[in-house]
Amino acid sequence: MSLELSKKAQAVKPSSTLAITAKAKELRAQGIDVVGFGAGEPDFNTPEHICSAAVKALEEGYTKYTPASGSVELREAISRKFKEFNGLDYKPSQIVVSNGGKHSLTNVFTAILNPGDEVIIPAPYWLSYPEMVKLADGVPVYVYASEENGFKATAQEIAQAVTPKTKALVLNSPSNPTGMIYTRQELQAIANLAVEKDFYVVADEMYEYLTYDGEEHVSIASLGDEIYRRTITCSGLSKGYAMTGWRIGYTGSTEEIAKLMGAVQSHQTSNINSIAQKAAIEALNGPQESVGEMRDEFNKRRTYMVKRLSEMKELSVREPKGAFYVFVNTEGALEKKYKGEKVGDTTRLAEILINDYHVAVVPCQDFGFPTYIRLSYAISMEQIEKGLDWIGSFLSALEA
Ligand SMILES: *Cc1c(COP(=O)(O)O)cnc(C)c1O
Repeated sequence: MSLELSKKAQAVKPSSTLAITAKAKELRAQGIDVVGFGAGEPDFNTPEHICSAAVKALEEGYTKYTPASGSVELREAISRKFKEFNGLDYKPSQIVVSNGGKHSLTNVFTAILNPGDEVIIPAPYWLSYPEMVKLADGVPVYVYASEENGFKATAQEIAQAVTPKTKALVLNSPSNPTGMIYTRQELQAIANLAVEKDFYVVADEMYEYLTYDGEEHVSIASLGDEIYRRTITCSGLSKGYAMTGWRIGYTGSTEEIAKLMGAVQSHQTSNINSIAQKAAIEALNGPQESVGEMRDEFNKRRTYMVKRLSEMKELSVREPKGAFYVFVNTEGALEKKYKGEKVGDTTRLAEILINDYHVAVVPCQDFGFPTYIRLSYAISMEQIEKGLDWIGSFLSALEA
């Protein structure tokens, strides 16, 4: 057969974390204790009252199609949440509910990009953005943020990457993988630039509920009418409500963009699972205590991780202010030798850690920062303590 498969599909980069995850699985199957710092999801169960709402929906026969962009009741709940939590006015007609935050982002790029349009992605970035942009025929353009500025791209740095082809900027705050949060002032400068140069801002606020030290989460769309019209605010229930498997993401945008996304989705997937929609309504309208409890637990782990990692002289960390990741600079370890051979890069470092110390970490070359690793603290405190001990043993085994 000489039938060529899709060039676009073939160009998609498979996730670099897969090899490590596969190895961790293999070791666990052999009965070996493995600590997995790779987790990209909360380790908590979905709060019970939310699960009960799903059971009730099922029992009541809420099992039919809903409007493609989500039931009116759910979009009303999201509209209220946008108003109360983000200070944003989005009517239900401006809201599209999709199969997780990833699907929301995919719809956004499909709705706003034409072939060759450039999308500025500040690095370090979540590894899915470049692939999503390319799948929508866009061209990712990277802006490398400095560690000194907390891995946050400044308006000046972004301005230097703007060309006549710039269609959008992706802004992820709180950030995966760095845990950093853009301040109101930083966002205002970026908003001014977006209005002046006229490009969209795709604001990925998936971790908006997970902020620590009293840090404020600001939605860039709330900073004025002009930036509101140019922003697509993306969020969902996966991270804040421990609902990754339910697949609930949503966007707030102009009615014009919402209509386009709704039309695209109506042909591709139609509405998200009807039962999950009932659960989402309960999550947003019901008691919110569990969100705070999960955040408090993440916060304890964060404090502990940062303290322990700061004591390891080959590593350096900045205290994350949100999400559930620590972004670790490993340059001090990469220069050293392990069993007579220079460690060299984080792919090798991650291999040594999983093979010899049974600790899974995420090397960050696919996040745009190859000398860093990402450690998630969405695992139990007990696991964290053990995993950090083992990383400590590895570092002690290194030679100059
Ligand atoms: C987890 C995550 C999402 C969306 O996750 P879904 O599981 O698709 O809801 C979006 N953006 C970032 C940065 C994430 O880490």
